[in-house]
Amino acid sequence: MRTQVVIIGAGPAGMLLSHLLDLGGVDSVVLETRSRAYVESRIRAGILEASTVELLEASGLGERLRRDGVPHRGVDLQWPGERHHLDFVDLVGRGVWIYGQTEVQKDLGVARDAAGQEIHYEVADVRLHDLESERPYVTFTDAGGGRHRVDADAVAGCDGSFGVSRAAVPAAAKTTWERTYPYSWLGVLADVAPSTDELIYAWHPDGFALHSMRSDKVSRLYLQVANGTDINGWSDQRIWDALATRLGHGQDGWTLTPGPITDKSVLPMRSLVMAPMRHGRLFLAGDAAHIVPPTGAKGLNLAVADVALLAPALAGLLRDNDPRLADAYSDTALRRVWRSTHFSWWMTTMLHALDDPFDAQLQLSQLRWVAASTAAATGLAENYTGLPIGDSLRD
Ligand SMILES: Cc1cc2nc3c(=O)[nH]c(=O)nc-3n(C[C@H](O)[C@H](O)[C@H](O)COP(=O)(O)OP(=O)(O)OC[C@H]3O[C@@H](n4cnc5c(N)ncnc54)[C@H](O)[C@@H]3O)c2cc1C
Repeated sequence: MRTQVVIIGAGPAGMLLSHLLDLGGVDSVVLETRSRAYVESRIRAGILEASTVELLEASGLGERLRRDGVPHRGVDLQWPGERHHLDFVDLVGRGVWIYGQTEVQKDLGVARDAAGQEIHYEVADVRLHDLESERPYVTFTDAGGGRHRVDADAVAGCDGSFGVSRAAVPAAAKTTWERTYPYSWLGVLADVAPSTDELIYAWHPDGFALHSMRSDKVSRLYLQVANGTDINGWSDQRIWDALATRLGHGQDGWTLTPGPITDKSVLPMRSLVMAPMRHGRLFLAGDAAHIVPPTGAKGLNLAVADVALLAPALAGLLRDNDPRLADAYSDTALRRVWRSTHFSWWMTTMLHALDDPFDAQLQLSQLRWVAASTAAATGLAENYTGLPIGDSLRD
């Protein structure tokens, strides 16, 4: 096989990259270890920044998003006895959208089908070769056991946090920064209408809680739990009781309505950045290059921002023989990655209980400041709704 770009991974980064490359007249082949059904039903992120929505719309992927997505003006910040609404639209002129990663993934699948995109699902033993040459190639085993080789001009590593692309960069050619947080999230999906119009981020001495949602019929809720938590120790009743306590059931007449839990998982919290995001003709994007804890809702949005930069960079390099954007890709993307990494760390450390009374007072002081100060709230809003993609002065 021969193509211009081999894309490793059919998650949001890989699928959107194949879409944007196609719009720019660049061919690609996508390789994915999982089945299409698995990829399209994987429960993960659900909040889209304004800039993500604009990019999806501008590339013809906005129809269902505009119809079924729910625009939110802001979020609530909560701690025992207090709840404060931050109105992002008032503060910075833009909000966010509730639209599940599953739906983004399905929209991408439909668009790629319509374009006749070559995607190989359920592949194995993916290996990257000759990345430092101008003729890299990738080998893989297809679902039927056949071994294949794809020759290309570039390889895009969009294979998430556990893929092969990051590992394909030699140790001497990369620097990795990492932080593992001393807590995890227990996330549930429930078939019940959300008990709130917009997200509630709650600080509580028992631990953080978040009331999010996927639609007007499906709630997404999270609880801070200890690392290594066994999900079997958390019955549905225990989960709803903890959510009620931490989210302030009964406070000023607000109630949390429980319902049937349809999905339950424990998610470790990690920050990781690898630099540079390019090695020879291998370009990394999304979780393959960086991981953020989900508190700031940045993972999916960062993956989109990366490929928004990478697609024109690859088109310049391969179609126009102009390497300038490709040469700038890693530095440009990393400025935004570090901004989002800091914001995600800041939200995480402000909201998660650590069993340290001094830290708890600092966290509460910070929350009161964000709730009371327009300057502080504007900083949160500016980061949460997403900074411009590729603007070197601000991102
Ligand atoms: C378990 C989990 C839960 C999350 N929950 C939330 C959340 O609640 N809120 C939030 O804001 N963010 C969440 N995130 C973050 C967000 O979903 C990710 O940032 C986003 O999916 C990144 O997109 P991506 O395309 O870069 O990577 P991914 O979505 O991980 O896609 C990578 C793809 O590559 C495939 N792959 C892996 N290895 C290979 C290989 N060797 N060859 C070929 N293909 C390969 C994978 O199967 C996958 O389909 C979560 C992430 C994870 C992992």
